[in-house]
Amino acid sequence: MATATKPRRKAEATRSFQTRMLIDGQWRDSQSGKTFATINPATEEVITEVAEGDAADIDLAVQAARKAFESGPWPKTDARDRGRLLNKLADLIESRIDELAELETLDNGKPISESRHGDLPLVIDCLRYYAGWADKIHGQTIPVRGRYFCYTRREPVGVVGQIIPWNFPMLMVAWKWGPALAAGCTIVMKPAEQTPLSCLRMGELALEAGFPPGVINLVPGYGETAGDALVKHPGVDKIAFTGSTEVGRLIMRNAADTFKRVTLELGGKSPNIVFADADLDSAVNGAMLGLFLNQGQCCCAGSRLLVEEKAYDTMVERLAAASEKRKLGDPFDTTTEQGPQVDKTQFDKVLGYIESGKQQGARCVTGGERFGSKGYFIKPTVFADVKDEMKIATEEIFGPVMQVLRFRDADEVVKRANTTDYGLAAAVWTRDIKKAHSIAQRIRAGTVWINCYDVFDAAAPFGGYKASGIGRELGETALDNYTELKTVTVALE
Ligand code: NAP
Ligand code: MG
Repeated sequence: MATATKPRRKAEATRSFQTRMLIDGQWRDSQSGKTFATINPATEEVITEVAEGDAADIDLAVQAARKAFESGPWPKTDARDRGRLLNKLADLIESRIDELAELETLDNGKPISESRHGDLPLVIDCLRYYAGWADKIHGQTIPVRGRYFCYTRREPVGVVGQIIPWNFPMLMVAWKWGPALAAGCTIVMKPAEQTPLSCLRMGELALEAGFPPGVINLVPGYGETAGDALVKHPGVDKIAFTGSTEVGRLIMRNAADTFKRVTLELGGKSPNIVFADADLDSAVNGAMLGLFLNQGQCCCAGSRLLVEEKAYDTMVERLAAASEKRKLGDPFDTTTEQGPQVDKTQFDKVLGYIESGKQQGARCVTGGERFGSKGYFIKPTVFADVKDEMKIATEEIFGPVMQVLRFRDADEVVKRANTTDYGLAAAVWTRDIKKAHSIAQRIRAGTVWINCYDVFDAAAPFGGYKASGIGRELGETALDNYTELKTVTVALE
């Protein structure tokens, strides 16, 4: 492992940041005048202060979004022109891809190679995908009894509140804005307190692209104040949330009084199942990617690696070796593979899980401690001899900590894979095609990868069973989240 070097913080040197909130096309300070600091997790230094929105700012933003939804240019904008605006935004992002990748790396800590070649291309692709949908959202004609002409319309659901997490800040913006804007909704978004900068920069680009005032409003701030006010506001028709299962549950409760439509993308404890007949080279690579991508801060992280007995020792040995080779350090170094955890809270939480794994008797084969003395870096950690009931095998860790469990046969592994409150993703590695598809059918999860992991595409739906969420994002299906269905019946006689 390389030593941690001081991140170069290129983005800071090259530009100043947008730190105010976007309401009705204007950049404003919060009404309270308060700000909060956003931190560079690689150095623990403050990057800048950002306007701290609360209920009063949310109220203004919702009023602006309401006005933009009901009057002004947006409801008169042709569907195809909404698509053109989304394409323009994608083009603007593409033309500034290096700058945006640097900003994401600075605020979140993810390696620049990932933000530049992973997150940003997916952001652009997602916006273009939904640009293509804007003029293809249509209803049906229905053959009802009698002399009536019956048809359906898909209308925008209205003002949508969107609350996003810090693990893929720009990508979460794209997943949320794409279908909402294609459908003709207006937006009030609250980015995560840890990573507001790239979202605000995207707001600047959206204005440059020509989205009318009030269509996209951005209110940075805390979940307990700004987020809570958005969820309860009577002027909001729908909430789309990505984050923890605990907050998702609270949001669903709080949205009930006003009957908001709610979609939730929550946590996971995804089983990654490796049979002994798999191509073990690919399985090792897939297990590494599936867990360590983004410092382990992925809702779909393959954090329960279930390996068939015959291949268990080999897999553990190879995973430990691969983990020890991972390059940690300056996220701005293009060869860095792992950056810091997003903040001190997450850093402490992950180290707490590592302690609990050790105390409950799992075998820590590599890692198990922080890396360096500055920045929230944690060594890639692999636990072997993990038992199903251990805390590290049941709770979402959201860090670079892999649990390797042993299994004997297919029936047993399916049962254990499904013994969780979560159901976001799963993977199976085998050369036996029947076994692969049969297991894919029996796993209760929204996504199953066969002989691959973390393959995302804007066209492929993503979301969870059980406590992993409600609804699906991406693909055609995400448009349903942002439309209401209206039936119109006309008497013909
Ligand atoms: P979180 O609290 O669920 O945060 C997600 C978003 O919800 C943030 O924008 C947050 O605001 C906001 N929020 C928090 N409380 C709220 C409330 N009462 N009403 C409305 N909005 C609220 O997640 P976290 O604290 O950042 O991370 C905790 C754990 O959640 C992680 O360890 C991980 O297990 C899980 N997580 C999952 C995902 C995912 O992709 N599914 C992403 C991130 C985290 P703030 O700005 O104040 O945070
Ligand atoms: Mg939080």
